[in-house]
Amino acid sequence: MSCVDYKNRLPEVLFGPEKAPAALRLHIEQCSDCREELSALRSTVTLLNDWHAPEPTAYFDTRMAARLREERSAPSMGLFERMRARMLFGDRMGWRPLLVSTLALLVLVGGGTYADLMHQWHHAPQAQASATILDLQSLDRNAQVFEQMDALLQDDGSGNGSNSSAAALNP
Ligand SMILES: [Zn+2]
Repeated sequence: MSCVDYKNRLPEVLFGPEKAPAALRLHIEQCSDCREELSALRSTVTLLNDWHAPEPTAYFDTRMAARLREERSAPSMGLFERMRARMLFGDRMGWRPLLVSTLALLVLVGGGTYADLMHQWHHAPQAQASATILDLQSLDRNAQVFEQMDALLQDDGSGNGSNSSAAALNP
């Protein structure tokens, strides 16, 4: 093992000297570099042990509760704001399934549009007259997909109350 390997295992000596492997302890005895590293690590840990986290001010709870009430009564966010909030604060709210379903929908929409284009391209002579109608039909289908997406999002939001917590976290 090299010095780097030994240095990576210095915490073992620091937190459990009696359990540390003999080879590691022997190396530290013989290598001044590793000994210095160990003493630096020890003083850092000592400092951290002496450090006390500052107490929150007396009004913290009151202000936090007021802020939460404020956010709860705020007007509900639109689809893209909600998605943005989920992206930013999403870890606890499980946005990954949402993202996956959104991407799946986009692939479906994209694939559908592509198939539609291919269809139109193959039947160009007949389709020419009704191109506008086809466009309108395509728009209608896309609108339906977006409606379904919105409904999915709303179901998700009301199910676990994540909407309000996302709003509370949004500065
Ligand atoms: Zn060493």
